[in-house]
Amino acid sequence: MTDVSLDSLDADTFRALAHRCLDDALDWMADFDGRPAWQPVPDAVAQHFQGALPEDGIGEEAVYTEVLENIRPYVAGNVHPRWWGYVTGAGTRFGALAELLTGTLNSLGIGGNQASTWVELQVLDWAKDMLGFPKSSTGVLVTGASVASLVALAVATRDRHPDHPPVVYASSEVHYAMGKALRLLGLGASALRAVAVNERYELDPEKLAEAVAADRAAGLSPTAVIASTGTVNTGAFDPIPEIADFCDQQKLWLHLDAAIGAPLRYSDKLAPLMRGVERADSVAFDYHKWLNVPFSAGAVLIRDGEAHADVFAAKGAYVTQLERGLSAGPVVWRDLSPDLSRPFWALKIWMMLKATGTATYGLVFEKNVAQAQAMAALVEAAPQLEFLAPVPLNIVCFRYVVPGLDDDALDAFNAQLLMDVQESGVCVLTHTHLDGRFALRACIVNHRTRDEDVDVAVREVLRLGDARR
Ligand SMILES: *Cc1c(COP(=O)(O)O)cnc(C)c1O
Repeated sequence: MTDVSLDSLDADTFRALAHRCLDDALDWMADFDGRPAWQPVPDAVAQHFQGALPEDGIGEEAVYTEVLENIRPYVAGNVHPRWWGYVTGAGTRFGALAELLTGTLNSLGIGGNQASTWVELQVLDWAKDMLGFPKSSTGVLVTGASVASLVALAVATRDRHPDHPPVVYASSEVHYAMGKALRLLGLGASALRAVAVNERYELDPEKLAEAVAADRAAGLSPTAVIASTGTVNTGAFDPIPEIADFCDQQKLWLHLDAAIGAPLRYSDKLAPLMRGVERADSVAFDYHKWLNVPFSAGAVLIRDGEAHADVFAAKGAYVTQLERGLSAGPVVWRDLSPDLSRPFWALKIWMMLKATGTATYGLVFEKNVAQAQAMAALVEAAPQLEFLAPVPLNIVCFRYVVPGLDDDALDAFNAQLLMDVQESGVCVLTHTHLDGRFALRACIVNHRTRDEDVDVAVREVLRLGDARR
């Protein structure tokens, strides 16, 4: 047999490539002002990704050159300080190093007797502290808040009576991932009841009570309420203490979508927004958003650990635990989520949180909220611009108004304007629809954003809007 391995390049040549790669990466992460916040993928570049896999590989150095030429310039751009699209963390240099270490260790993060188990347990303990959950609750890392909510809702809806289908309630502003999770759980689109919001886009508890009462009267089985701490559209906070009281009284499971708000407890100023979250039965949140850990990393916490394990524990002959050796250990993660093979997700989270500390994170959140409020003030001051929602936190929704145009025409105008703004490369905003109106939307969870970036961006929106009318 020939001696063959996948680590093929000779050691010195590979070391040189690795050092070049790291130097290039550090330069690229520092030099964001020298490039657009986003640029479209040219046709020639898209064409480059056609064609079959070669039988003889082209080699590591040649592939790296292709990454530099055809991939790196055309990634989403969210490491740039003026990227405020969707809800997107910017990553950090140290997070990137952590990813390198994660790949180096390549630890199969299934649990058992290996350091990754204890690192993940500590990360989850920190999450329990952050959200006021008891030590006895269970948790597990997953790709993101979508899967985290799928896990939580699987536990919340585990008891089903065929004659009394479960119903889950959430505001009309809830993230679509919640409806998707319920469909995947076989509950059908009708299992999610959309409850009306007030003028601040927060769930209206009276409307919730009416919906639950009507469903009980109709023989359905109200089962859970999903509340949001920071909605994706506008950053609205549902009134958690009132909803928790209602859930106690009605014996409903309270699930929190805290994808955006979870870490706000690290800021004394912003922590009051998270009042009552410790009363939830489960919470889903992300590390790759405001905590800026590189994609991807999310988590779920579940107060009733036994119920959690009941739903996910699986037994296979090849994975039973022995009393010593590799399989022994405090936890096996496959018993808590859909994943079996999984990365050492906890390492980058643990490294970043421990290196940064809660205080600096708190300051980053406060800075971003102040920047969103500054953007709101610029929108207010510009006669051409109009708010489409209040700005309770870090998300600003607005549009450019041309006198004489009706709502349909304004929608079309603002959609064109949004594409102009993105193609300018000056900043990245994305869009949403609020009360049927097309909104330009900025969501600032970017630790690199500087105050002057907000001025630059609003000036560009006004310039492009004025040019288009
Ligand atoms: C991003 C987001 C989600 C989904 O989280 P993923 O990490 O993308 O799976 C759910 N809810 C809210 C409010 C979000 O912002």
